[in-house]
Amino acid sequence: MDYQAVLEEVADAVAPQIGRGQAAGYIPALAAVDLGGFGMALADVDGSVTGVGDWQVPFSVQSISKAFGLALVLAQDGENLWGRVGREPSGTPFNSLVQLEYENGIPRNPFINAGALVVTDRLQSLTGDASTTMLDFLRAESGNPQVSFDPAVASSESDHGDRNAALAHFMASYGNLDNPVQTVLDHYFRQCSIAMSCRDLALAGSFLARHGLATDGSRLLPAREAKRINAVMLTCGTYDAAGDFAYRVGLPGKSGVGGGILAVVPGRCTLCVWSPGLDMRGNSVAGVAALDAFTSLTDWSVF
Ligand code: GLU
Repeated sequence: MDYQAVLEEVADAVAPQIGRGQAAGYIPALAAVDLGGFGMALADVDGSVTGVGDWQVPFSVQSISKAFGLALVLAQDGENLWGRVGREPSGTPFNSLVQLEYENGIPRNPFINAGALVVTDRLQSLTGDASTTMLDFLRAESGNPQVSFDPAVASSESDHGDRNAALAHFMASYGNLDNPVQTVLDHYFRQCSIAMSCRDLALAGSFLARHGLATDGSRLLPAREAKRINAVMLTCGTYDAAGDFAYRVGLPGKSGVGGGILAVVPGRCTLCVWSPGLDMRGNSVAGVAALDAFTSLTDWSVF
């Protein structure tokens, strides 16, 4: 397949959607971003990467980091995590508190904020430095040593992080955090602040398309664990719009409020699309439209 031609056709098809939606206003450092950006990259399982638009422009990965955190914990700790976090769609917003109380401090899934805080807590216990472990992993898998934290975004989130702090304290009260709340929050904000381009993210997520094999050919995860991460991405990866995303796109995907979405075509490729205008549920308007157009053009959904 001529990937470049397909991506150009996708970009043309979604051009009217670029600039629609709103930036993530609750994180002031993200609110200022220009809504006119759009980029898309495709990383083939053979390691080659193709892109259109702003595909080499770094943006804030935000919740896309949650997919990598989950992978790193499952790689080091197997299935133990699932006693502390579920794997069902939440049907509530990503930062909701109510469900946690009904369910005794056990988050519904690892991709809502509460679940990601538990994953970060576990990665911190396993490694002693959760956010640097993730950064090192992303640099290695993307082949880009320039991938970095964005301290301005991390401190902006921390300054406006009352909701995440509430989630963390609440779970601590149920005994579902092993590390101090502030330590977990600091590592969580730092991992969310990592700046990467569509190119970097498509390459870094390739192990999900390669059934658990890392870029250097070593095994990061057993194939069954890569399958499970993809399954949780499909059912829970796009906030409380995961059903609509599956309906329109038909691929495992993880979105972030920086406007990026990482999607996986198992056995073939990973895709990353970025455009900062978000819909009401927090997913990139042009990003979802682009993935919808991609699977319509190629017939490469998992269904
Ligand atoms: N750092 C963001 C938060 O905790 C991540 C949200 C997201 O991308 O879904 O609110």
